[in-house]
Amino acid sequence: MEHEALAIAPLDEHNLQLLASVRPDGWQNPVPAPRYNMVVIGAGTAGLVTAAGAAGLGAKVALIERDLMGGDCLNFGCVPSKALIAAARAAASARNAKRLGVIVPDGVRVDFPAVMMRMRAIRAEFATIDSAARFKSLGVDVFRGAGRFTGRDSVEVEGATLRFSRATIATGARATAPPIPGLAEAGYLTNETVFSLSELPRRLVVIGAGPIGCELAQAFRRFGSEVTMLEVMPQILIREDRDAAKLIEAALIRDGVRIVTSCNIQRVERRGTDKVLVTNHGAGAEEIAADEVLIGAGRAPAIDGLNLEAAGVEYDRAAGVKVNDYLQTTNPHIYAAGDVASPYKFTHVADATARIVIRNALFFGRTKASAMIVPWCTYTDPEIAHVGMYAQEAERRGLKVTTFTQELSAVDRAVLDGETDGFVKVHVEQGTDKLLGATIVASHAGDLISEITTAMAAKMGLGSIANVIHPYPTQAAAIKKVGDAYNRTRLTPFARRLFERWFSWTR
Ligand SMILES: Cc1cc2nc3c(=O)[nH]c(=O)nc-3n(C[C@H](O)[C@H](O)[C@H](O)COP(=O)(O)OP(=O)(O)OC[C@H]3O[C@@H](n4cnc5c(N)ncnc54)[C@H](O)[C@@H]3O)c2cc1C
Repeated sequence: MEHEALAIAPLDEHNLQLLASVRPDGWQNPVPAPRYNMVVIGAGTAGLVTAAGAAGLGAKVALIERDLMGGDCLNFGCVPSKALIAAARAAASARNAKRLGVIVPDGVRVDFPAVMMRMRAIRAEFATIDSAARFKSLGVDVFRGAGRFTGRDSVEVEGATLRFSRATIATGARATAPPIPGLAEAGYLTNETVFSLSELPRRLVVIGAGPIGCELAQAFRRFGSEVTMLEVMPQILIREDRDAAKLIEAALIRDGVRIVTSCNIQRVERRGTDKVLVTNHGAGAEEIAADEVLIGAGRAPAIDGLNLEAAGVEYDRAAGVKVNDYLQTTNPHIYAAGDVASPYKFTHVADATARIVIRNALFFGRTKASAMIVPWCTYTDPEIAHVGMYAQEAERRGLKVTTFTQELSAVDRAVLDGETDGFVKVHVEQGTDKLLGATIVASHAGDLISEITTAMAAKMGLGSIANVIHPYPTQAAAIKKVGDAYNRTRLTPFARRLFERWFSWTR
């Protein structure tokens, strides 16, 4: 299947600068080397890290990209979404400033075109790091075109055959649209088109209340759209800790997002310029009209057109390229990294898996993907961040779990900041301080979670975290308080009686 180049709009100076970096016009593919140490297919985070890392070590590397270098993260994912979220937070802070005694005299108005232009400017600036020219300067042979395996050790791109001793599949994932009758005809936005909007939709329906849906629903609501989020499951952020998801749901509702759960979308109809979603949910049948419909309902691995059969690489349409714990595919010379092969679809995991591939593919390394300690964050306001296991998951694995929770309402800095909606919840193995996992809901939970991740990576127990001095006042002190709570459980009534006797002797 031919890949159709993704549209980037508007073609202003920033997007032209972006395209000059990541999809340069008139790019001349190099003459292929007789054989490469590493051929990488896909120049998103996973592919770029693999190619740069391997070339930096002296390997002969080819990097193949069919569309925009930088992949989803730079062009249609983390970078543009977080730029929008920053603006949305600023709008919400200004609206809520009255609670802190700060008056914004004429109300808050969001200049959506200006927000989008700032995003485009930042994206274009970041793009130089991922650019074809930069990778060429690193010594990587950059090929533009779709990569397609022609054998167990060869890939074809734009008529050229590249032979390899090792290859990495890093083709990522793409948004999938649910099979709703009329949706395709009515037209919808995905992450590949929403960041090209130049006008704020007055009424936006978001299908899917996962991380992407929740982040963008809140951002667009804060910009001023009327936002309705439809979710087929009975609750939002279904994979997250229940208490955490409930706090986010409350925050979204407070912002004015309408959330409809257990919602069955029967069809979408085009009526004039309106897109009308004919739905059925707890309250009965309802027609919801929108100017735009945004899909945030799942992602599928990008494997079409790779001709994996020719290379002996097995795959599954939903889970992606099959890999063992060393990220090796069923062809031992071919590895896979990032979204195309990972259950964790995050940029930092794309980066981490690429590093594993470099070690294992080029140096006979035996680094295991299962050894990764993977944190993640959903950048709503407040954020939810998580690392390790959820309590139910640990119990399913036969572990007995004790959970310590610290509400932010009892953390001085959170009170001072007016950011008391949140908590730090840490799971340890019962009777020990061994960290199993943690969930944090806080304004900057994504930053706070790294303390727990570091402790887990260093095999540090929860009790030791209590001994770490935290600056006062910080929200991270909530983590220390959880450590204190654990340490208090060690003071059994018997130990306390012994202490009392000791103090009475030594008075
Ligand atoms: C809206 C949104 C927000 C996100 N926010 C975050 C976030 O805040 N934090 C986070 O960690 N993650 C976030 N993610 C996820 C993150 O973007 C992905 O996990 C990450 O981009 C995966 O990198 P990758 O290299 O595996 O794949 P991709 O970035 O998808 O790159 C794959 C590349 O391969 C190319 N390709 C595909 N097939 C071929 C072929 N046959 N030949 C040549 N090239 C090919 C594609 O064109 C693409 O450029 C977000 C995603 C979305 C959609």
